[in-house]
Amino acid sequence: MKIDSYRNQNWLESLLSYVWGAHFSDIARSNQIKIIFGKKAKRRLGSIGLDSNDPSISIIRINPIFQDMEVPQFVVVATIVHEMTHYAHGFNSPLQQKQQHPHRGGVIKQEFAERGLEYMYLEQQTWLKENWPRILDKYFAPTTHRSSTRSVKVILPWWMPRL
Ligand SMILES: [Zn+2]
Repeated sequence: MKIDSYRNQNWLESLLSYVWGAHFSDIARSNQIKIIFGKKAKRRLGSIGLDSNDPSISIIRINPIFQDMEVPQFVVVATIVHEMTHYAHGFNSPLQQKQQHPHRGGVIKQEFAERGLEYMYLEQQTWLKENWPRILDKYFAPTTHRSSTRSVKVILPWWMPRL
């Protein structure tokens, strides 16, 4: 994988600090939160979970393909906003859980909109639709990728991050 040294652990942490300060300053930091690169994946852009060694710690995992400089920074920021939305809604965080299901009912898009970030949500979707398959071809065997997209019918957009 082509890795740009600028997009390292410090970069991830500074993006999380930025997102929290700029867009989630109303949300209490109620526990320790780590942000790390997870496993490369086609569909999962990010996730939030609890540290298996210490469940008091929340961990946001970001797709390491985002180290590719062809991926604009706003796409990474939007992914962090998505995971922070789960945190704010009480999924894998100590905060009170706001709804039963982390995605159902358009709650993610609604949270973006309430925070004045609907444009970011929409621009991320547009960028992914136009560019993500081509980026994936650099990191996964194209035959696998093509055959799976041809044969599998997905109802949700296939690039949508899963919890
Ligand atoms: Zn999610």
